[in-house]
Amino acid sequence: MGQWVYRFGDGSAEGRADMKELLGGKGANLAEMAALGLPVPPGFTITTEVCTYYYDHDRQYPGSLRADVDGTLKAVETSVGAAFGDTDNPLLVSVRSGARVSMPGMMDTVLNLGLNDETVQGLARQSGDDRFAWDSYRRFIQMYGDVVLGVDHHHFEELIEIHKEERGQDLDTELQAEDWKILAGRFKDKVAEVLGHPFPQDVGEQLWGAIGAVFGSWRIDRAKTYRRLHAIPEDWGTAVNVQAMVFGNMGDTSATGVAFTRNPATGEHAIYGEYLINAQGEDVVAGIRTPQHLTKAARENANHAGGNAGPSMEESMPDVFSQLSDVFVRLETHYRDMQDIEFTVQRGKLWMLQTRSGKRTAKAALKIAVDLASEGLIDEKTAVTRVEPAALDQLLHPTLDPDAPRDLLTRGLPASPGAASGSVVFDADEAERRAKAGDRVILCRVETSPEDIHGMHAAEGVLTARGGMTSHAAVVARGMGRPCVSGAGQIRIDAKAGVMTCGGRQIAEGDVITLDGSSGEVFVGEVKTLQPELAGDFATLMRWADTYRRLRVRTNADTPPDSKTAREFGAEGIGLCRTEHMFFDDNRIVAVRQMILADDRAGREEALAKLLPMQRDDFEGIFREMSGLPVTIRLLDPPLHEFLPREDSEFAEVAAAMGVDAKALKDRAEDLSEFNPMLGHRGCRLGITYPEIYEMQARAIFEAAIAVTTGDGDPVEPEIMIPLVATEKELSILRGHVEAVAEAVFREKGTSVPYKVGTMIELPRAAICADRIAGAADFFSFGTNDLTQTTIGISRDDASRFLDPYVKMDIFPQDPFVSLDVDGVGTLVSMGADKGRAVKPDLKIGICGEHGGDPASITFCEGLGLDYVSCSPFRVPIARLAAAQAAIAAEKQG
Ligand code: PEP
Ligand code: MG
Repeated sequence: MGQWVYRFGDGSAEGRADMKELLGGKGANLAEMAALGLPVPPGFTITTEVCTYYYDHDRQYPGSLRADVDGTLKAVETSVGAAFGDTDNPLLVSVRSGARVSMPGMMDTVLNLGLNDETVQGLARQSGDDRFAWDSYRRFIQMYGDVVLGVDHHHFEELIEIHKEERGQDLDTELQAEDWKILAGRFKDKVAEVLGHPFPQDVGEQLWGAIGAVFGSWRIDRAKTYRRLHAIPEDWGTAVNVQAMVFGNMGDTSATGVAFTRNPATGEHAIYGEYLINAQGEDVVAGIRTPQHLTKAARENANHAGGNAGPSMEESMPDVFSQLSDVFVRLETHYRDMQDIEFTVQRGKLWMLQTRSGKRTAKAALKIAVDLASEGLIDEKTAVTRVEPAALDQLLHPTLDPDAPRDLLTRGLPASPGAASGSVVFDADEAERRAKAGDRVILCRVETSPEDIHGMHAAEGVLTARGGMTSHAAVVARGMGRPCVSGAGQIRIDAKAGVMTCGGRQIAEGDVITLDGSSGEVFVGEVKTLQPELAGDFATLMRWADTYRRLRVRTNADTPPDSKTAREFGAEGIGLCRTEHMFFDDNRIVAVRQMILADDRAGREEALAKLLPMQRDDFEGIFREMSGLPVTIRLLDPPLHEFLPREDSEFAEVAAAMGVDAKALKDRAEDLSEFNPMLGHRGCRLGITYPEIYEMQARAIFEAAIAVTTGDGDPVEPEIMIPLVATEKELSILRGHVEAVAEAVFREKGTSVPYKVGTMIELPRAAICADRIAGAADFFSFGTNDLTQTTIGISRDDASRFLDPYVKMDIFPQDPFVSLDVDGVGTLVSMGADKGRAVKPDLKIGICGEHGGDPASITFCEGLGLDYVSCSPFRVPIARLAAAQAAIAAEKQG
């Protein structure tokens, strides 16, 4: 077997940054920083292979692991000049998890490990600081108790509160050595009371307990939820990092902080971060104390309402700050990306605890990618790969209309951009429940923790009363693209009573508020929002992306305004114009119902004649918006019953228009009802049985195309698409009808336009027989919504009831209606494309199901060499970038 343990520290390391699969992100970067000669406390990483082994062997470790860990720990002892468990000069370590990609807050951390009733005295003597030693010990019992032993942290917090009340003290900082000593004793008693056995005094037992807890935490529910939301495979496993402790809480020359080498919200090229004097790292991240700014400029510019106006690190520790700034430049130049860094200052000496590529908003990602390229650190192609396509969605979020009236409640920190309104909820489960029921909610918490992830995901936005820009809420919300205001310190939340108060005002659960995550403002009620403009860095990166993209990107749009939006987002035509929505319009639906309920062809034609001019107008509007670009119009698809009246008054209205009896109409409607409408009388089956419907639509299309082309517009080339085709016969019959209409219209108008007739491939039979169907088709468009439904045999309309548990149980890695089921549906798409092209090498092939806007599915389409993807207007930029990245990745693979 390979090496289970990798050492780092003292200017060298056994690992490297590119060993993330084995060492996890944190371990690999600690190794890299150590090898670069940066000040990294020595330690070692237990590999992810041990995690895999552990789960493959009934939670047993590889036989040699204990000896490897003992040996490496000895080396760390030598390097630090202290010994693990030594009562005079104890080595203390941190134990942290670190998976291949960062999973913020998901896995567990234990600090100060190695303290017990004896070593705490050694630490006190050695540091000359009793208070520090006992504070460290109680923190260790608290963290270890919570994370490893499962004694909930509120037990400990309660004990602290009781003690402070007894002593009449308000702040933790007022507690002295003796207080912490008493509390450490009470903490141990509490652990013994809850668990029925004492807190472990043996440092070896402590170490292995913590290592086991890290590996064990890979499979806890919140970690699984996080992985599911971020498509992280279950089998990656986590590494464990054991590292000598350095202390940011050894008095006023000590500090701890987190920093980004550029602003993670805006991308601005300026050091951005927070620190706390005399604190341990977890204090910053947990949002327990609100930290101070790193730079003087940030302190001066900040909106102090929710932040801390205390001196910046640049002012209070100028020498260390300047060292830190040099380290930032080195790391950025080395990694060629913005870094997210954790550091500690122990009695004036700087220690680096972590560096990784920093999470950022889409806005920042764009700016950083474009800036790094212009600074010459990366090339344009690399810049294109640096922005996650799905994250662009954040930029498409609305902002507050500056002219809209508003009622400011309070301000906090602008933790994640975008604006959102919704009803207040105080609990993550409730947020999820209400969102599932279709409500828009804002999750309001004192602070968030990893247990709240599902609620944050379900919410439109997140508001917290405590915590800084790097608090859990801020980091997670940015990653999810949810607007977030954090550290709104004036808010008091009483979740039990279902209210929050702020400056004398009360907001109850269910009341609507609006968040502006870009300014940190919170408003009472709903505030009008505006759509974003996509210029500047966005346009630059999109332009670069377009130079690497092979796939064309079209849109699914069926109104002129949607077509316009899509074109502004860069759509290169329409890949799917659904025509059924046009039929629902208030002043048409009666004619539509009349058409459906008519007894004979003559009755239908009379109703269709009323619809023709309206359809022609629809198409003219769309052709004008898309002038010069291809427009694929899908003829009527849905089952007719969807258009039928339900209420008596509606029957009466249609009966009056048709001059027939309402009762007779109801009977006719009854005749049309189906057991399985999704598999019923829909798609081309309507065209076959009621040819006049498609003939009317074809006429409207040709007349509109001629009107636009002979007017002032650029020529349009309509592509008429026949839905739900299963056999070549269906297509050739309907193609014949369309051609006959084209000839008639061209003859009447004395002019013609070029056009195509093609089909959707949305049934397994169509994919299997695509070679024969291709004979009658000028193009194929994969309707992967129906193809997924019919391949897996899952109803599109009913799937949500059981798909969630299916995805949770990993039966499907993702919802197959969102991301293409590559193994099943994908095989049919691939077969359909191959068979179609075998008959017609230049057959144009695209995809227009929802998957056309999903980056993973787009990568799959690139692999098949399809011609285009088509997606909803707001996904067009995402598709352009995803297509470029897919092409770049394909090129790399050769
Ligand atoms: C499809 O089935 O994938 C499709 C695009 O058509 P619709 O969603 O309208 O059924
Ligand atoms: Mg369909």
